[in-house]
Amino acid sequence: NRQFVLASRPIGEPKPSDFELRTVPVQAPGPGEALLATQYLSLDPYMRGRMSAAKSYARPVEIGQVMVGGSVCEVLASHDPNLPVGAVVLAYGGWQDYPVAKASEVRVLDPAAAPPRTALGVLGMPGMTAYTGLLTIGQPKAGETVVVAAATGPVGSLVGQIARLKGARAVGVAGGPEKCRALIEEFGFDAAVDHRSPDMPEKLAAACPDGIDVYFENVGGEVWSAVFPLLNDFARIPVCGLVSQYNAVEPPPGPDRLPGLMRAVLSKRLTIRGFIVSDFASQARDFYTDVSGWIREGRIRYREDVVQGLENAPEAFIGLLKGRNFGKLLVEVRAP
Ligand code: NDP
Repeated sequence: NRQFVLASRPIGEPKPSDFELRTVPVQAPGPGEALLATQYLSLDPYMRGRMSAAKSYARPVEIGQVMVGGSVCEVLASHDPNLPVGAVVLAYGGWQDYPVAKASEVRVLDPAAAPPRTALGVLGMPGMTAYTGLLTIGQPKAGETVVVAAATGPVGSLVGQIARLKGARAVGVAGGPEKCRALIEEFGFDAAVDHRSPDMPEKLAAACPDGIDVYFENVGGEVWSAVFPLLNDFARIPVCGLVSQYNAVEPPPGPDRLPGLMRAVLSKRLTIRGFIVSDFASQARDFYTDVSGWIREGRIRYREDVVQGLENAPEAFIGLLKGRNFGKLLVEVRAP
C-alpha cells in the first residue's frame, strides 16, 4: 500500500519534499470495516490548510500522518453485510492505494446514475459548495450581475452556470486566455476577465457596466480589490475561499483598509458571509436532485482534469494552488 504522509509543514508554497511516499503492508479490515482500492483521489485547495498547524475549522494533518482527501474506491473486502465486495463508494480514504474505512462512513455510488468520479466534483463537495453558497447567501436574481473567480474550477464553473439559470449575468475571472475562452464557449458565461492581465481592474469594470450584485469569493487578493469598488448597494458576498492567500507567509503590504471596508459595509448595506459547505448539509438532497437534473438536461457542464498515478499527486496539488489545473483536479490511482 503506497501512501503519502505529511513529511513537513510547508512555509509558503508546498514543496515535493513536504510529502513522503512510503509503502506499508495492506491493512486487514476489522469488524464493520472494509478494505478499499482507490480509483480516484480528489485534490482540493482546503488540503493546504490541513498541512498547516494554524487554527482553522478542521484539525490539521499531523506529521507522519497520511494526507487526507476524498476518494472514489472499489470495495475489495467487507466486514459489513450491507456493503458488498465490488461496490464503488465515496470515501475519505486519503492519499493512498488501499484505505481501510468504516462501512458506515462510506457512501455507495450508483454508476448507472452518474460517472462515480463526479461524486468528487460537480455532484460532490465542490458542486454542493457552489450550489449552497450561491443560492443561500448570494441569492442571485434575474438581471443581476454575479462575479466569480477560479471560474473554470469545479466551484466557480458551477456558480456561474447556476447564476445564469437564475437569469443573472455571469462574469468569470480566470487565469489565462485559454481558461477565459472556456468560460464563454464551454460554460456559457456572459463575460470573462483574465486576472493575470495588468489592467485586470479596468477589464473587470468594463465587464460589469451595471456594477456587481453578487461576488462569490473564491480567491481574495487582487481580484477582491478589483471587485470591491464595483459592488452595488445590497450586494451579497458568500466568502467561500481565499486561494490566493493559502500560501502567504505574511499579510500583503499596503495601508490598513479595514476602516474603508466597514464604511462600505454600512453605506452600501453589504452582506458578507463566510461559510463551510457542511453548514448546509441539510440541502444535500435538493442539491443532488437539481444539479444532476440540470446535467441530464444539458444545462450544466463540468470539466475534469485527471492526472495519472498516485506518485504524481504532490506535483498536481502544488499546481492546483497556482492555477495549473483546468477543471476539477483528480488523480487516477487505479483505472476503474
Ligand atoms: P479550483 O479547481 O478552482 O482551483 C483553484 C484555482 O484558484 C486555480 O485553478 C486558479 O485558477 C485559482 N487561483 C489560484 N491562485 C489565484 C490567484 N492568486 N488569483 C486568482 N485565482 C487564483 O478549486 P475549487 O473549485 O475546488 O475551489 C475554489 C475555491 O473554493 C477555493 O478557494 C476553495 O478553497 C474553496 N472551497 C471552499 C469550500 C467551503 O466549504 N467553504 C469547499 C470547497 C472549496 P486560475 O488559473 O483561474 O487562476
